[in-house]
Parts: sequence; structure tokens; C-alpha cells
Amino acid sequence: MVVGGGNSAVKVALDLWRNGARVTLVHRRAQLKKTIKYWLLPDIENRIAEGSIAAHFETRIRAFLPATARQRARIVLEGPDGTTEAQVDAVYLQIGYRPFVGLLRAAGVTVDERSLRPTFDPESCETDVPGLYVAGTLQAGLETGKIFIDNSRHHGSQIVGHLVSTRI
Ligand SMILES: Cc1cc2nc3c(=O)[nH]c(=O)nc-3n(C[C@H](O)[C@H](O)[C@H](O)COP(=O)(O)OP(=O)(O)OC[C@H]3O[C@@H](n4cnc5c(N)ncnc54)[C@H](O)[C@@H]3O)c2cc1C
Repeated sequence: MVVGGGNSAVKVALDLWRNGARVTLVHRRAQLKKTIKYWLLPDIENRIAEGSIAAHFETRIRAFLPATARQRARIVLEGPDGTTEAQVDAVYLQIGYRPFVGLLRAAGVTVDERSLRPTFDPESCETDVPGLYVAGTLQAGLETGKIFIDNSRHHGSQIVGHLVSTRI
């Protein structure tokens, strides 16, 4: 069972199915996310339409019930048809993530309460703790989809450039 309706959930569902797993996708909304990559969307929609991958939309997980000596693990789902139970071998929760900013705060970096963005200079990536830099998705706080590989590769050279110009 794969939970979620974004790129990660769709990729996981398709990969599992292509490797022989019986896959059910569960998503709390009525449709998959609009931000799904254009080459993945028809793939997943066709797999769902032909019944290769089962899908439950507008469905939430209410409980995980552990396996017993007699039964496999089960999941309690609540959706348009009411409450149902499904047996599962594994559940892949692909519902996004938020950055762990505890380490930054412990080091003295100012982190915005709402956005979880650390305070840093976009030119050098240096935080408000001199000599401490942030690179990659962590710079975006909660907006984890805003900074990815393609648009953050230069952070490394920014940081090295700043180190070279200020510390040597
Ligand atoms: C399904 C999927 C598809 C994607 N496709 C693309 C794509 O096609 N193109 C693209 O540009 N981006 C893509 N992305 C996004 C991309 O993977 C991320 O933006 C990128 O990996 C972020 O890199 P990062 O170095 O900032 O963070 P991460 O890759 O998350 O690296 C952070 C690292 O820090 C480590 N860490 C965390 N806390 C600590 C700690 N306390 N001490 C030590 N280490 C710690 C973690 O273990 C991890 O190794 C995709 C993401 C997903 C999930």
C-alpha cells in the first residue's frame, strides 16, 4: 500500500508494480497532485484505469493494526464507502516531509517559526552564526519543493568561494 498523491507516491507505486508487487494507492484528495511530472501522470492514470494499480481517493488512514499469529497487518481506511479494512504486507507513506531544524537552532541559527527557513545570506549561504552554512533544500524551510538538485548545485561553490575569500 502506498499512501500519498504526489510525485513520490506515484513513483513508488509504479516501481513496486513494475517489480511484481500488488499495489494499492491511497490518497486523501479526490485527484492526484497537479505537480506530478508530465511523464508520470499518464503512466499512473493508465495503470489505475486498467486496474493494474488499485486506487482509493478521498480516503484517509484511520489505524494501523499489527500482524497477529493468524492475520497479516491491516489498515483501517475511511473513504467515500465508509470504513474498510485492508490487509497489507508493507505500507509506504509518501506524504511529504518537513525539515528538522533542531540541530540548526541548537547551533544558534535563527529559524523562522512559521516557514522554518534558517536565516542566511543568499550570496554566501552563511547563516547568522559565522562560519556555519546551509546548502540544499534545508534553505527552503517548509517549502521543500522549491529547492531541489537542479537549482541548488551552486550552493557548494558559493560556500567554498566565501570560505576562500574570508578565511584565507
Ligand atoms: C521521488 C523524488 C524525486 C525527485 N526528483 C528530482 C529530480 O528529478 N530533480 C531534482 O532536481 N530533484 C529531485 N528531487 C528532489 C531532490 O532529491 C532533493 O531536492 C535533494 O535530494 C535535496 O538534497 P539535499 O542535499 O538538500 O538534502 P538531502 O538529499 O535530504 O540530504 C540531507 C542529508 O543530510 C543528512 N542528515 C540529516 N540530518 C542529519 C544530522 N543531524 N547529522 C548528519 N546528517 C544528517 C541526511 O541523512 C541526508 O543524507 C526528487 C525528490 C524525490 C523524493
